[in-house]
Amino acid sequence: MAKKQFKAESKRLLEMMINSIYTQREIFLRELISNASDAIDKIYYKSLADDQLVFDKDNYYIKITADKDKRTLTISDTGIGMTKEELENNLGVIAKSGSLAFKQENELKDGHNIIGQFGVGFYSAFMVADVVTVISRALGSDEAYKWESEGADGYTIEPSEKATVGTDIIMKIKPNTEDDRYDEFLEEYRLKSIVKKYSDFIRYPIKMDVKGKRPKEGSDNEFEDYEEEQTINSMVPIWRKNKSELTAEDYENFYREKRYGFDKPLKHLHISADGAVVYNAILFIPENTPFDYYTKEYEKGLELYSNGVLIMNKCADLLPDYFSFVKGMVDSEDLSLNISREMLQHDRQLTLIAKNIKSKIKSALQSMLKDEREKYETFYKAFGRQLKFGVYSDYGANKELLQDLLLFHSSKEKKPVTLDEYVSRMPEDQKYIYYASGDSIERLEKLPQTELVLDKGYEILYFTDDIDEFAIKMLMTYKEKEFKSVSSGDLGIEADANDSASEAEDGDSKELFERMKAILDGKVTGVKASKRLKSHPVCLSTEGELSIEMEKILKAMPN
Ligand code: ADP
Ligand code: MG
Repeated sequence: MAKKQFKAESKRLLEMMINSIYTQREIFLRELISNASDAIDKIYYKSLADDQLVFDKDNYYIKITADKDKRTLTISDTGIGMTKEELENNLGVIAKSGSLAFKQENELKDGHNIIGQFGVGFYSAFMVADVVTVISRALGSDEAYKWESEGADGYTIEPSEKATVGTDIIMKIKPNTEDDRYDEFLEEYRLKSIVKKYSDFIRYPIKMDVKGKRPKEGSDNEFEDYEEEQTINSMVPIWRKNKSELTAEDYENFYREKRYGFDKPLKHLHISADGAVVYNAILFIPENTPFDYYTKEYEKGLELYSNGVLIMNKCADLLPDYFSFVKGMVDSEDLSLNISREMLQHDRQLTLIAKNIKSKIKSALQSMLKDEREKYETFYKAFGRQLKFGVYSDYGANKELLQDLLLFHSSKEKKPVTLDEYVSRMPEDQKYIYYASGDSIERLEKLPQTELVLDKGYEILYFTDDIDEFAIKMLMTYKEKEFKSVSSGDLGIEADANDSASEAEDGDSKELFERMKAILDGKVTGVKASKRLKSHPVCLSTEGELSIEMEKILKAMPN
C-alpha cells in the first residue's frame, strides 16, 4: 500500500517553535550570528577544494546595526549567501538545515566548525521581530533576492538588489508591551553583552558601530562625540591557544572577564584532551570561598560550549559536589545537543568528560599539595570542608579519591598535616590514629583526655570542624590504621591496658563513686578510677561509637 506523508499545520508548528523552544529571547542573536558564521565557513570550505576561490580572512565579517528610529536590527554577513531556491528551501521549510546538508555533501568530519544542524534557529528571530526581511546574494550569482515574512502567515520572495555577496537579515523589532520590553534589542550595550555572552568565540569578527565620547585632542577638559566600528568578539578562544603562548596573567584576565569570581584564582588547569573524548577546558580553583558557597543558593557548574558557542551557563553534571568550587568552561565538538541548543541529550560524551575532569582536578590538587604546600593550605581553608563532606556523603563512595587530600591540625607539628604524614611518623608500638574533637585548637590543647596519648609521645589530630569526625567515621581506617578518639574508654595504650584502674582501687572508693554518680543524676553511665590522667583530676570518656562531640552536633541538627 502506498504510504501517505504526514502533513503539518505549519502555522501552528511555527508558532509553537517560536514560543516554546527557547527559554530566553536573547538567544535569537546567537542563532543568527551562528548562521552568519556558518555562511562564511562555507566559503572557506569551498575555497579549500577550489583553487579559483581565494579565501582572504580580512574580507569576511559579520556586522550588527541597530537603528532606533526605524526600530530595525540588521545582521549582515559576507558569507556564501542564498539563491532563490535556497531561500525557498532553507527558510521556507521548517526543520530543513542547509548547513547540515552542506556538511554531509562535503563530507566534513572532524575539525569542522559548522554549527547549524536542526533547521529551526532562524525562526527565533520572530521572538523579537514582527517582520523579518532577508536580502541575499549567493556566491557566483549577480542576482539578489528578498525573502520576507511576518511569521506564521507565510512568506514572500521577490528579486532585489545587493551590491555584494552575502546576506542581510533585517528585523523590525516588536514594540514594547505592558509585560514585555523589546527596546533592549536596539541598545548598543545590551547587544554587545549578548554577543559577548554567547558568541565571543565565533571565529570571524562581529562588528558594530559604537558611539562614545572621548577627550578632544589637545584639550584636557573638552570632549567630543565619536562613532567608530569596533570588533566586539574575542574570536580566538583562549582555550584554543597554545599553552606555551599564554601567561598566568592571560588566565587571570579570562577569570575576571568571565566573572568566575572577584578573587584571583589560586590555580588554573588548561586541558586539551583528544583521546576517547575530544574537548578543551580551562578550569580554576578560586582562592576565596564565595559568600554563598556553603548555602543552598550556591549553584555549581561549568560553562559548556559546543564549537565555541555557549550552550549552558552552568552545566552541573560536569562537576561532582565535592569539587563544586571549581570554576571554568568546557568546549567540545562532539556533544549531542537538543534542538534548542540550550540543553544536552543524555550524553555519553558528557559523562566521559566529567569523569576525565574529575581526575584532572584531583591530580591538580594533589600536585599542589606536594609542590605548593602553602597554596594548598590556603585552598584547604576555603574549601577543605567541602572535601570532608565529599568523604562523608554517598556512604563514603569517594573516600579513596579524597582521603589523601585531607588535612588536620597536628599536636606535634602545630600545623595541618595529611593522614599519610601522620601514619608515616607513627612509632611502631602505636596502634591507632588518635584524634580529639572540640571547638578550637587552644581548647583541645588543654583537654585532659589528651594527656596520656601525648605523654606516650604520640601525635594527635585536632578536629575543630563539626564534619571532621563524621568524615573520619566514614573512612574507618587509613592505611589499615583505625582512628581512635582520645576520649574513648579504651585507648589501646599498653601502660593502661584498660583505662580503668584495678577492681580493687574501684572497690576502695566504691562508696565515693556511687555517691558521685548519684549526684550527677543520669548524666554519666559510670564513675571509675583512671590511670590516664596526669595533671587533671577528672575527665569524661565515652564507650560507644558516638563521641561527646558528635552527640552534641547530632542534637543540634534540625530534625
Ligand atoms: P540551522 O542553522 O540549524 O541549519 P537555521 O534555521 O538557523 O537552521 O537556518 C536554516 C538554514 O538557512 C541554514 O542551514 C542555512 O542553510 C540557511 N541560512 C540561514 N541563515 C543564513 C545566512 N546568513 N547565510 C546563508 N545561509 C543561511
Ligand atoms: Mg542556525
